[in-house]
Amino acid sequence: MASTQIVSLSYQPLNLPLIEPFAIATGTQHQVENVVVQIQLEDGTIGLGEAAPFPAVSGETQESTLVVLQDSEKHLIGKDVKNWRTLAKELDKLAHDAPAARCGLEMAILDALCKHYQMPLYVFFGGVQMQLVTDLTITAGDEAHAATSAKSIVERGFSIIKVKTEGTDVDYDFRRIQAIHNAAPGAKLIIDGNCGYDLTRAQAFVHRASEVKIPVILFEQPLPRESWEDLALLATTCPFLIAADESARSASDVARLAHDRSASVVNIKLMKCGVLEALQMVALAQVHGLGLMIGGMVESILAMTFSAHFAAGIGGFDYIDLDTPLFIAEHPFSGGFEQAGEVLRLNPEVAGHGVTLASPLF
Ligand SMILES: [Mg+2]
Repeated sequence: MASTQIVSLSYQPLNLPLIEPFAIATGTQHQVENVVVQIQLEDGTIGLGEAAPFPAVSGETQESTLVVLQDSEKHLIGKDVKNWRTLAKELDKLAHDAPAARCGLEMAILDALCKHYQMPLYVFFGGVQMQLVTDLTITAGDEAHAATSAKSIVERGFSIIKVKTEGTDVDYDFRRIQAIHNAAPGAKLIIDGNCGYDLTRAQAFVHRASEVKIPVILFEQPLPRESWEDLALLATTCPFLIAADESARSASDVARLAHDRSASVVNIKLMKCGVLEALQMVALAQVHGLGLMIGGMVESILAMTFSAHFAAGIGGFDYIDLDTPLFIAEHPFSGGFEQAGEVLRLNPEVAGHGVTLASPLF
């Protein structure tokens, strides 16, 4: 028996309290309802992963994720993590429509593989960087909340603020953005529409914001996922770079966005597609000259540290949105990236992603 064979798979709901509700155009999350995944290899090595199902994006829930993990167990036991790419493809066949569940498994498999070979995960992905600069998000809320948040974000050392807009009332969205800009005039802004606008409202919002020179460095997912033609139209006149998030769930989505010239940047989130597909999305984006952003769902330090290794290892990610651990009040993990203000640092001395359970869960 190879020492890198999987001998057990365990999983548990990961319910974590949030410091404040995470509100976006498509809904509000009041607590984290993720799943933690653990595999053990024959040599005793433990690999940890996290699935962060987000119903509005893929239709997955914590419950459906647990079912997929249960179904995957018999398939994975006895398999060798050295064949991780084959395993990832098989998982895709088995559970294509459960990307977050697959992602949690891929994370655990790659963590175990790297730990077995005593290699930090960012080295596995290419070893380009060890450090990233993240934004911090202001979720949906009124003008006063937005201004107070902006001020405190800058005081905490961040230079890029990501703002969730609602998309229904352009004037309201504009006033919030302006309040944020007034409270933090030196900060650059990423606006995330989360599918909330239609073409007319998006154009009106862009017009208002550009007229008064609000420093918007990215306008993320202004339109609904399937509004491909309208997004291409918006891109022809929009002075801000457009990033695709909900519209970029697979490599074929990236090909379409590149062909239509409807986005300049692709937001890669491992939970939307799994690690293997995300690698293909990155390659396609690079081939077509699209910029790269790394983001996530509402994820704990575990999944976010994995994504930090992914982006830093590959390199060339210009937009980093790995801030959700700051919204989580408490978690059962130790390790992970060190955060000082906006800077995230990976530990070069630790194998795998470096996040372990602080107290036994399994
Ligand atoms: Mg987004």
